[in-house]
Amino acid sequence: MGVVEDVLPQYGAQETIGLKAIILLGAPGAGKGTLAEGIKARTKFIHISTGDMLRDAVKKGSAIGREAETFMKRGELVPDDVILRLVEERLDQGSPDDEYLFDGFPRTLEQAEMLSASLRRRGSRVMAVFSLEAPRELLISRLCGRRLCRQCGASYHVVNIPPRKAGICDVCGGELYQRADDQESTILNRLEVFTRQTESLIAYYEGMKVLIRVDAAQHRDLAVEAIVGHIRKLPSV
Ligand code: AMP
Repeated sequence: MGVVEDVLPQYGAQETIGLKAIILLGAPGAGKGTLAEGIKARTKFIHISTGDMLRDAVKKGSAIGREAETFMKRGELVPDDVILRLVEERLDQGSPDDEYLFDGFPRTLEQAEMLSASLRRRGSRVMAVFSLEAPRELLISRLCGRRLCRQCGASYHVVNIPPRKAGICDVCGGELYQRADDQESTILNRLEVFTRQTESLIAYYEGMKVLIRVDAAQHRDLAVEAIVGHIRKLPSV
């Protein structure tokens, strides 16, 4: 199974759209980060991961990082106002014809509505939302085995994508670590939070006719291929 639904809206050839935005929507473990890397390598999209931005803010000890840290440790969502500040600041730094690939954002209906409003102000809109779908057991096993490089952020799995040398990054030789929120009890909470929040998001984007369901259990190269195929159909990408 590849893409199981294809409901891309049709845009008129004469229509001009500035900044473009697409979204990867998926449970923790669905492969948002990995697929984003594959998409980035083949398109001009700029990857915006609110999870990465928050981890960076926590590491730096910034005001946003201090506000976010306790929520993140528990696997809870960081409050909408904090996330929106983060994203707005990032979009303000960009240029009008940037193409954005959001990963892990929006997570709530409020965030989705604020994103729509923000893009509208910038003469744009969400053009496609890829809903990455995979069975719960697969998500749990991916998250429990996930290891990341402290230096370059490359992602591994102890069984599925092991590094050549245990604990060491193939790319840069950095040390691999397990994310604090990839412990089993936190994982279950994150999945629960995701399921609770996502129904309204799916309905919202289905209503906008931009939702595309993608089988995220298939090999990552196939999933990237399916997504890039859809992106190529968007106007002038
Ligand atoms: P992720 O790397 O996307 O799994 O995010 C890690 C954690 O950061 C989540 O469990 C949340 O605590 C927080 N987070 C990331 N993105 C968002 C968001 N859009 N809204 C609220 N919390 C977020």
